[in-house]
Amino acid sequence: MATASTDDELFDEFLSERGHETENAGWQDDHNKKQCPDCGGLHETSATECSVCGWRP
Ligand SMILES: [Zn+2]
Repeated sequence: MATASTDDELFDEFLSERGHETENAGWQDDHNKKQCPDCGGLHETSATECSVCGWRP
């Protein structure tokens, strides 16, 4: 039974719905770019994952 990741996702949704900041789990905004919070790589706003380290929200 490995349900830890599911619990984390539910918790994230809970925080989002309550309006809490979830920036630590998402892209950093840098002007018109997205910045990976893990390695600091810059990407287009359409990027869904970091092409440098493979991180994704
Ligand atoms: Zn990265």
